[in-house]
Formats: sequence, C-alpha cells, structure tokens
Amino acid sequence: MLRTMYGQAKLLLGHGKEGSHLISISTEAHRTASSTATNFSVQPQPKQQQPQQPQVPKAAVSRARLARHLELTWRQGSASHFPLTWLRDNCQCPQCYHPESKSRTVDWATCDVTIKPKDVQVSDDGKTVIVDWLDAHNSRFSAEWLHERRFEEDARKKWLSTYKQKKHIWGSAQEENFPRKRFNFSAVMSTDGGLLQWLLELEMRGVAILEGADSDESTVRKLAERVAFIRRTHYGEEFNVKSKSDPSNVAYTEQALQLHTDLPYYEYKPGVNMLHCLMQAQGEGGENQLVDSLRVAMQLKQNNPEAYKALTTVPIDWSDRGVEDGRPFQSLHRAPVICEDAEGNVVRVNYSQPQRDSHFSVPLEQVDGWYLALKEFTRLALSDENCVQYKTKPGEILSFDNLRILHGRSSYSPAVNQIYERHIVGAYLDWDEIRSRIRVLSQQEPTPLAH
Ligand SMILES: [Zn+2]
Repeated sequence: MLRTMYGQAKLLLGHGKEGSHLISISTEAHRTASSTATNFSVQPQPKQQQPQQPQVPKAAVSRARLARHLELTWRQGSASHFPLTWLRDNCQCPQCYHPESKSRTVDWATCDVTIKPKDVQVSDDGKTVIVDWLDAHNSRFSAEWLHERRFEEDARKKWLSTYKQKKHIWGSAQEENFPRKRFNFSAVMSTDGGLLQWLLELEMRGVAILEGADSDESTVRKLAERVAFIRRTHYGEEFNVKSKSDPSNVAYTEQALQLHTDLPYYEYKPGVNMLHCLMQAQGEGGENQLVDSLRVAMQLKQNNPEAYKALTTVPIDWSDRGVEDGRPFQSLHRAPVICEDAEGNVVRVNYSQPQRDSHFSVPLEQVDGWYLALKEFTRLALSDENCVQYKTKPGEILSFDNLRILHGRSSYSPAVNQIYERHIVGAYLDWDEIRSRIRVLSQQEPTPLAH
C-alpha cells in the first residue's frame, strides 16, 4: 500500500525548488532511539538469568533532502543533518566496511573527501536511505543506524553517556554511614546484574564495598577475572599487604600511610584498586581513610583558583625505585597533581608523598607557590567534611577508583612471632576493561544495517 501511494517518491538533486527535493513516505509507528537509553539503575537480576536481549529501536524517515548536508525528516517531525563526507566515509557496503570485524575499510588514500551525491532515495517503509554518489558508488544506510548517529546535541550527549558514567561527587556528609551501599560477593560473581551494579557504583561514586567473600588468597583474582583480568605492576599481580621485613614499599610496614593514590609514577596508572581483607588488626588502628579528590579539587578551584592552577599545570616527577622478586625497577612519570582533559574535567589525580621525586624539574619560580597549593589541597582532603574512615572486616573487599579516590591507612600493631594480625590481598584492574564490561552488560550491540 505504501508503494502504491508513494511509489513515485524519488529525490532529484541539486536544482529546482526545494519542494522538488522532497519525498514523503508514510511509515509505521516511529520510536526514537532514545527509547534504548541505558538503564543505569538496573536491579539485580535473579540468578541464572540469561544476558539481556537487545532491544531493537525503530526509526523511520519521512523526508530526505540534499543540500550542503543530507537533511532527513523523521516521521515524528524533527530533522537531522548529516555531512556528506561523513556519509561517504561511513558507507556500509562490502568495499567500504567489513561487517564481521565492524571495521571501516574505505581506502582513505583514494577516497575523494569532496565527493557529492547525485541522488538520494528513501525506501517505501522509511527504514533505508540510499545514497548514489557521482563516482557510481552506492551506499545504503538504515534509518535506525542514522538516527543513532545524529549530530544534534541531545544525540551526541546520549552517545557519550555510554562512554563514561556521570560522577557522583561525595563528602563525609553524603557518606555518613559509609558505605551507603554494599554488594554481595556471590551476587557479583554469579549474576550479570550484580556485577553491573557494583561496577556502576564503582564508576559513579568511585568506591564500593563487597561483602561475604571467602577468606582465600585467590579471591581477589577471581573477582578481577570476573570483570576482565588483573593489571600487573612491578609489584606483581596479587599483592599481599602485611608488615614484612626489608619491605620494598612503605605499605608493607605497620606504619601509618598518608593519603595517596597508588602508582602515580605509571603513565598508564592502574585504574581500580581492590583490597580484600583476610585478617584485620584486632586492636587499635588499621582503618582506611578515603577521600573523593573530585570534591577537593572542586573546592580548591572555587576557593583558591591560583592554587588550583598550580596543581593542574605544574608537572611533578613521580617515581618509584626498588627491587621486587629480584627485579630492579625504576618507574618515572611526569604529570600534575590534578590532570584535566581538554574540556576541564578532572580525569586523574596523582598524590603520594613517598612517590614524589626529590627531582622537581620545573623553573625555580614555580616551586614555592606549588608547595602552598599542595598544602591547601592536603588541608581540604583531610578535613572532616571530606575524609571518611572505614575499617574493613574479614570477608570484605574495598574497591575504589585509583585515578580519583585518595586512600590512607592508620598505623596498627606489628606482627608478633610472624603471626600477622592484618592481612590484605590487593589487585588492580584497568578502567578500559571495566568500562568495556559495563557497556557490554548494559547495552545492546549496535544494530546491524538493513541492506
Ligand atoms: Zn561503499
């Protein structure tokens, strides 16, 4: 019936009145791709539940017009514009795109970036847009595929929401009964919903506690491998934190550890730290301090812009030198305390007294101001409104964002007769792997094109 009514519809390009450029095709009920928004407040799924079936969004085109861009009018009335070169670059034909690897294969050495279409058509059902190019190439795009890739701000924001989760910044007032949420270890290990909930909390709040883990030294490895794989460092894969003689790191003593982030001397700094408590000091001490450095950075920026500028611009030499398992290491990385991206978002904080090198390779006049700025940052971090204390219990795994959360530990009683009172097994994960896991768990696969 649609063909009968609109079978004549065809676009004539590049000349004549605007009206002659339009085709009008009725389509079935249109549902925008926004209906596929990821549900980030997903509830735990019952055990044994199968992975979520992909939702299939529907989008349909009612009008197409070629001008400087391809203009599509969606059935619901809104319009979207697509750059012509972008369309040619993203042609989905077998010469230009390899579907199994989901990879573009357009030869960029020979592709004409000024190429123009000579014709555009829309299928009768509005679900496919066909672009004929002057070089006799033919590209078919599904309306749904195009709709998901709209250049309008709302569509770009929606897509970017799958890139990283929005951060929930917290201080001690928000964490009065820290932790606000606990995650059952078995649920995380056995259900995708449980795993996703934990990882989302970890990304949004930067810290999450699992409970009910067995007291096995391999538990933290199993958890890491449930997500992806352990990030190895020069301290190995799993690391045991208990006081030991001749330690290569101050963490391996019973002394207090000042607030810090781990491994600032790595350019590719491990993203998440997981600390599994097997045994905890019975007496005083052994608590962790935790601080959301995003809140500290925000306060510093508001109250002392000059200090903020110093901490975001003066590069610091971070370093670690030593020997672990007979292998000498000398790790160096140069970066500010607060690292921002091009849009001014804080993406990484480096903070560690023991691992800040005595080499301070900046011009003389930057040094004094920087020390004052670091002192102010430290004062804010240690303030009651920003710092929470938590003493992990056996069976708990404290996980936190090592690019964001400052952590410390109070001193505790040393081991007596080689019997350790406090025993933590730690391991790292990388954000690339965690975010990939979050996306796979929470989103459908990109919908294949209708050719
Ligand atoms: Zn092609």
